[in-house]
Amino acid sequence: MKVILLRFGELYLKGNNRNVFESLLIGNIKDKLKDEHFKFEKTFGRYVISQYGKEREKKIIEKLKTVFGLYSISVAEEIEAQPEQIKAYVGQIKIKTENFKVYVKRADKKFPISSMDFAKELGSIVLENNPNKSVELYNPQTLISVDIRLNGKAYVFDEIIKCQGGLPLGSAGKALLLLSGGIDSPVAGYMMAKRGLKIEALHFHSYPYTSEQAKEKVIELAQKLCDYVDEIKLHVVSFTKVQEEIHMRCRSEFMITIMRRIMMRIAEKICVANELGAIVTGESLGQVASQTMQSMTCTASVVKDLPIFRPCIAMDKEDIMEIANLIGTYQTSILPYEDCCTVFLPKNPVIKPTIEKCLKEESYLNIEELVDQAMQTEEVITIRKK
Ligand code: ATP
Ligand code: MG
Repeated sequence: MKVILLRFGELYLKGNNRNVFESLLIGNIKDKLKDEHFKFEKTFGRYVISQYGKEREKKIIEKLKTVFGLYSISVAEEIEAQPEQIKAYVGQIKIKTENFKVYVKRADKKFPISSMDFAKELGSIVLENNPNKSVELYNPQTLISVDIRLNGKAYVFDEIIKCQGGLPLGSAGKALLLLSGGIDSPVAGYMMAKRGLKIEALHFHSYPYTSEQAKEKVIELAQKLCDYVDEIKLHVVSFTKVQEEIHMRCRSEFMITIMRRIMMRIAEKICVANELGAIVTGESLGQVASQTMQSMTCTASVVKDLPIFRPCIAMDKEDIMEIANLIGTYQTSILPYEDCCTVFLPKNPVIKPTIEKCLKEESYLNIEELVDQAMQTEEVITIRKK
């Protein structure tokens, strides 16, 4: 019978919290597979999915590959842990590469043959059946693993499918992702979710300066992220009035800095109202004027009691793009619709603003009123995995 073996990776470092993490992860796995029929069991330290119907195997694997906290999986043949039965199964394996090795692991020490001897015996059986192949002990192209467990079963597999790794979704709490239509912020959301954070998102639009399509694009990006996080509450807030006011009253080179400080104030309010414990952005050091150390000092200083996570901070654009491609957001991100940050873009934005200068510019605005007005435009869209 074919089964899927699950490996949990970093979870094993979690000491006393281990059980909490583990049950969260198991819940997440079952949720992800809720449309499938299968049996899920823990047998002697191993989680195994079985009885799922061969035709659904690919689909199940694809779903498992999006679960954070799951390190790797293998499709294995489950057989009785009897030497003859194992030999019979191994004897019909066709090796597709030039060389191979058989590796035996025996949790059940009552199994009558030592691991080394049994591996040798199985190796020669495989060789008989694959006469053009050779045994390679140190760096085999195919590794046939025979895992003899205490439940009287043996599991034989020759492929390890790498999954997401990271920590179970929800194990680190919940955060607010500032989601623009660009390449970086969806990647930032994915990276933090992978470390266990559930994500809500906040998008600022500047209708009618930005189009309805710009908003649709952000909804589509959130939809793509739902492959991993299942559900995203997307808060959409109009930034038009704020931008018009800044444009009218502040020095143009401070436009972006002041905008970002107001974005952060609104983000913090939304976090408080929705019990979200951190703000996540797609900023990367030095990428643009608003992402210098001094600019980030000015934007962060308006946030009082929350950490700001910037997982892309040390990444090159190339590397961010690579992840965007992997998670399927890149093609949507490069659609050409204007982001609110490109409206009223100054020719020479300040690269090294100071908090003092920001406060001076802000003294020409009624910040509180602008924030409140913007908050009143808030629309919430719940997006779920399709
Ligand atoms: P991205 O590719 O994520 O848009 P970027 O390189 O274009 O990033 P900026 O436009 O300076 O950089 O934005 C920096 C970060 O600020 C973004 O990663 C995002 O987290 C947030 N942000 C920018 N614009 C918006 C917006 N319209 N709504 C919500 N958050 C935004
Ligand atoms: Mg952007």
